[in-house]
Amino acid sequence: MPEGSADTLDRATDEEPDFTRIRCPLCRWQPNESSRWFCLDCGHPEYFFNGCGATWNTFTTRGLCPGCGHQWQWTVCLSCGGWSLHEDWYEKEID
Ligand SMILES: [Zn+2]
Ligand SMILES: [Zn+2]
Repeated sequence: MPEGSADTLDRATDEEPDFTRIRCPLCRWQPNESSRWFCLDCGHPEYFFNGCGATWNTFTTRGLCPGCGHQWQWTVCLSCGGWSLHEDWYEKEID
């Protein structure tokens, strides 16, 4: 079996996220490139109390705040207000 079949995995790192494949696990709302999240103090479930106030689209950085570098594990839905693990927003490939 030839090697090299894994090199498609590295390709999407610097590209715009495919928002058609991102949706709220709770209500199925889909963000787009103009959606914005805030880095603010947060109790449950993130328990992060050094919010820097940055505003950005969290799906362009996979949850990494561009202001303070905090890696958000949880992402709030701008539609239903529920929190879900950032990873859970990405639809899984179904093969
Ligand atoms: Zn921040
Ligand atoms: Zn939602």
